[in-house]
Parts: sequence; C-alpha cells; structure tokens
Amino acid sequence: MNIYDTVDCPYCGYENDMSHALTDGLSDDNKLDWECQKCDEEFEVTVEFEPSYSADKIVYHECDKCGTKTRNIYKRGMVFPFPESLEGKSFCKSCWAEAYLKECEKGSNIKL
Ligand SMILES: [Zn+2]
Ligand SMILES: [Zn+2]
Repeated sequence: MNIYDTVDCPYCGYENDMSHALTDGLSDDNKLDWECQKCDEEFEVTVEFEPSYSADKIVYHECDKCGTKTRNIYKRGMVFPFPESLEGKSFCKSCWAEAYLKECEKGSNIKL
C-alpha cells in the first residue's frame, strides 16, 4: 500500500483512516463502502493502487574460468546440477553450459 491511506468524507470532510480498510479484502472493482468515522454517513471509496518500484545495483560477477564479467552468474551451491569438472565457484553461462554438456555426454557424474 501507499502512504495515502486516508480518505476525506464527502459529507463532513473528516479524514478517515483507511489503513485497515483492506483487511477484509476488496471487491473486483476496487470499491468498498465505508462508514465515516465521524459523521456515520456511508460513502463509496475507490481504492487506487499505485505502481511500486524497487531498485538494486547492477552487480557484475567475474567468471572463474574465462574471466568474462556477467550479470547472470552460475554459482556453485546455487545452481543444480553443477558440473563437477568446473574448478571455482562462479561461472558465466557459456562456461557452465559447456561443462554441463560435457558431463552429460560423458554419462554424467553430476551430483543432483
Ligand atoms: Zn463524515
Ligand atoms: Zn566463463
């Protein structure tokens, strides 16, 4: 939710706290009936959801085999199966795929 979780009553102008309004869920049209916390008049509230964004730094990892810097790194312990023939911890996709295919061809001693 965003920070604007109050709504002004169309009758008396009171700022109703809506922060708990969605605990019972919301209908498909994003509307709900709300009783003013001050004047007890009932009114219709339309809930608008704002898009939200989050950001991360772009991190480049260096392949332990060929030295390529890549954003899409294959790490031992995070990727399964991981080819035993690769020495090191982090590899670019092509080094990983190459070793993986080789082990597949060999009849596979890949630990799953
Ligand atoms: Zn009111
Ligand atoms: Zn590589």
